[in-house]
Amino acid sequence: MSMIQLLPGNIANLIAAGEVVQRPSSVVKELIENSLDAGATQITLVVNDSGRTLIQVIDNGSGMTPEEAELCFQRHATSKISKAEDLYNIRTYGFRGEALASVAACADVILRTRKEEDDTGTEVHIAESKVISSVPVNAHPGTNIAVRNLFYNIPARRKFLKSDNVEYRQIVSEFTRAAIPNYNVGFKFIHNSKEVFLLSPVNNVKIRISQIGNKEISKDLVDLQTDTTLVKITGYVGTPQNARKNQPNQYLFVNGRYFRSPLLHKAVLNAYSRVITEGYQPAYFIFLKIDPCNMDVNIHPTKTEIKFENDSIIFEILNAAVKEAIGGNSFVPSIDFDREGVPEIPVAPKDFKYVSPPKINFNPLFNPFKDLDNGTDDGGSPSNYYLQKNFEGGRAESSLLFMESAAEDTPFLLLRGKYILTSVKSGLMIIDIKRAVERILYTDYIEALSESKPAIQENLFPQTLDMDHGSFTLLMNEKPRLLRMGFDIRPFGDDCIVIYGLPAALKNEKLDIKECMDSLVMDLQEPENKDFDKEYKEKIALSIVKSVRYSSREYTKAEAQTILGRLFSCPDCAFSPFGLPCMKIIAMEDIAALLQKN
Ligand code: ADP
Ligand code: MG
Repeated sequence: MSMIQLLPGNIANLIAAGEVVQRPSSVVKELIENSLDAGATQITLVVNDSGRTLIQVIDNGSGMTPEEAELCFQRHATSKISKAEDLYNIRTYGFRGEALASVAACADVILRTRKEEDDTGTEVHIAESKVISSVPVNAHPGTNIAVRNLFYNIPARRKFLKSDNVEYRQIVSEFTRAAIPNYNVGFKFIHNSKEVFLLSPVNNVKIRISQIGNKEISKDLVDLQTDTTLVKITGYVGTPQNARKNQPNQYLFVNGRYFRSPLLHKAVLNAYSRVITEGYQPAYFIFLKIDPCNMDVNIHPTKTEIKFENDSIIFEILNAAVKEAIGGNSFVPSIDFDREGVPEIPVAPKDFKYVSPPKINFNPLFNPFKDLDNGTDDGGSPSNYYLQKNFEGGRAESSLLFMESAAEDTPFLLLRGKYILTSVKSGLMIIDIKRAVERILYTDYIEALSESKPAIQENLFPQTLDMDHGSFTLLMNEKPRLLRMGFDIRPFGDDCIVIYGLPAALKNEKLDIKECMDSLVMDLQEPENKDFDKEYKEKIALSIVKSVRYSSREYTKAEAQTILGRLFSCPDCAFSPFGLPCMKIIAMEDIAALLQKN
């Protein structure tokens, strides 16, 4: 075994470089942060070949004395902290004194700098952690640092780099992460002699966001704001309608520093959980302000991960703030930005239950023992059509009364039994009935699941369904849980079940029974869901409502009337539980514009 020995300085620097300088964008980040720490109001970034050959940052900040210009490349050389307590009150981006030492270990660096009060500046040339020359030069006040041929001495690192495109995108990301919170600083970014960004200083972060992205993004943002003793939150979140599948703009900052946090990301996404289609993500630009003594930035060499003393409380505060922001705005898509108007639609009281008239297309040839697998989603097949005990004359009569009273209310137009068209303050509202029904059923079913014994609607003709052996066993072992969900399912010979009853909350809709049983089997497979917590209820409701979604039908005017009244008392009524819009408004001016054209 060899002797323990101290590493030579240049090897120690190389090791540190491995952590701090992973790729060209890391250099960009460190250099821009140094300029910001130096109080620069104008920062120019020049990059060639996605940072492989040149990364240069020019600022008009404080500059350095000749001594500092050499010293700054020493490891642990920093002007930002001097004692242990300072670590708990960090207000600068840097403080570890590692960045320049790391960069100098793996690139060719020329630093030119001057303090305003000095007559001459200094130029230091450094490579492989060694000062090659240090001479007085003419220079503008501020600092100009050029990093050439990154990783020229570390071939393994060079090989590890991704394509030019990927490295370039990373650089743009680091640039925007610095430019957004520092909106009062002017930035310029030149890549391969082409100007990519020219951001004049502005006095408002929203303008900076639109300078960087495009106008579209900033138009679709909703204000976020909350103030507590622990944390102050400001910023913007995207409207659910503008969620994206690819590369959404998602930024979290704390005290002006970009950071990554799976936990807080979840706090934001969770607030959108029922209003965004799966796979889509909202944009967000969120700024937290927290007393530096309640957090630790020093847990990661690149400082993009941060430890908060009270992260679960911050989670709750952020989650509530986002919910409030989008709740106040996404209620009905059109009124998003003019909060005055509430649609001129009768709003049913909360306890108003969705009851559609009973179906009267009873099929006398219906054979309950027919194999259900063949008769799925063709809309008219009797095999999956639910027949209920309440098909009696008495009910049909009351439904006639119901229709009459409905006819006296708000005028609206029913289009092909699928859409409701109605006039609202700002224009023409179109409601997708199917999605509206999904939202209503989802709301009702969740409510039913909260009761200890949800009402079960018995089937007039119990249905049988062949299952695979595994699913059959699972369903039979979970009978109490199924009852708790409103399903009365019993065995019927080998791997065959009979469905005697379904949740009453869904009784007026046609379910795709095969889909419904498959969903149940899936849900029951998760053992940790034994307790009916909120999340579990939402999950079950979603999968059961899905089986309504897969069957289609046309709605009557009376049903449309009831749906209209009921929809607006549901939470998140603007979206189906699957995140698709239930309604859209065509604005007056758009209608006028439409009619302008030939
Ligand atoms: P840190 O930022 O953690 O202090 P760095 O290695 O990034 O460590 O920088 C070392 C020191 O060099 C800084 O503390 C600062 O005093 C000085 N320095 C670096 N860049 C600049 C700059 N652009 N303008 C003025 N001073 C700078
Ligand atoms: Mg630094």
